[in-house]
Amino acid sequence: MSDSIGWGLVGASTVAREWIIPAINAVENSRAVAVVGSELARTKAYAAANGIPVAYDDLQAFLADPAITAVYVSTTNERHAHATIAAARAGKHVLCEKPMALSLQDANAMLEACAEAGVQLGINHHLRSMETHRTIQRLVREGAIGKPVAMRLFFGVTLPDDLKGWRTSSREAGGGVLFDLTVHDADLIRFLLSEDPVEVVAMTAATGIGQGGLADTAMIVARMESGLLVQIGESFSIAHADTSLEIHGTDGAILASDVLMQRGGGTVSLRKGSDVTNVPLTHVNAYPRVIQDFNNAIRGRGAPSVSGMDGFKSLAFALAAQEAAATGQRAIVARKH
Ligand code: NDP
Repeated sequence: MSDSIGWGLVGASTVAREWIIPAINAVENSRAVAVVGSELARTKAYAAANGIPVAYDDLQAFLADPAITAVYVSTTNERHAHATIAAARAGKHVLCEKPMALSLQDANAMLEACAEAGVQLGINHHLRSMETHRTIQRLVREGAIGKPVAMRLFFGVTLPDDLKGWRTSSREAGGGVLFDLTVHDADLIRFLLSEDPVEVVAMTAATGIGQGGLADTAMIVARMESGLLVQIGESFSIAHADTSLEIHGTDGAILASDVLMQRGGGTVSLRKGSDVTNVPLTHVNAYPRVIQDFNNAIRGRGAPSVSGMDGFKSLAFALAAQEAAATGQRAIVARKH
């Protein structure tokens, strides 16, 4: 019997074209076998351009395709929950893009549908699969900086024109910086510090990229379970800076630059007093790792690199930041009951 995993794509999207289809096909015994989109002609053209044998415009017909074992959901954000629940009910494993949903009710329903169907659910917070972040997590856990006392993240980017669209104009589709960058940061903070955020204060702004008042910039302070504070800045409007991350501890600091992008890369250094040592790294493409981990989980070896529960927690953080920004009050990060 073939061990090959056939992947079906829900969403003829940019991220699938640029990163996920190449990643699926780069991993051993793994192929992109079908795609479903809302317009057949465009989806067929997308399939042809990306070497995918079959194109559908009907989700149920797509989900009935026996060649599909795993489904990758990368539609606009408001469609993630529906597609994930339908795929789980059809017995397919699901790797869903972030944010996993736009509400915790939907996120809960996704977790329940996948648990009931006995299928894997993973969320594509790809940063955990980067060599930089795995190295930083290891350094923190090994005590290289002593006890962490504060963290700072700066995720300022400028969106290329083809990624603006719904992301900067549509509340209904889940646009805005909180559902795009904040969820990634929330997951990364949890991954690097090995603890959960408890409460946040936040302000957001529309600086000209976000349309109709949709937030394109957010400044957030989060308190973690241990009491440690994390300062987070995110923006679609920053064209002249590298992304950066700092974790400060009692015995030293980890300073990382250019480490929050889709591509691997950037630098990590360890600072003790005025001594700064570059941490050697061999960068990798994170996306094939995400797919490899997911394929392994399907085969009963290990778990997806980011679980459905992790996705729930990163969404809960973004929703708390949204509430804090809207009310001007501290907001509690919701937990799953
Ligand atoms: P796109 O805008 O490229 O695609 C989203 C949907 O928009 C598609 O599913 C498609 O709908 C529709 N669409 C795309 N292009 C066209 C077009 N030319 N004409 C008409 N409709 C079109 O989104 P992204 O790839 O930027 O993002 C998709 C998801 O992936 C989001 O949830 C986002 O948050 C996430 N993402 C994650 C990243 C990561 O690294 N983890 C990076 C980037 C995005 P249909 O398929 O129904 O035709």
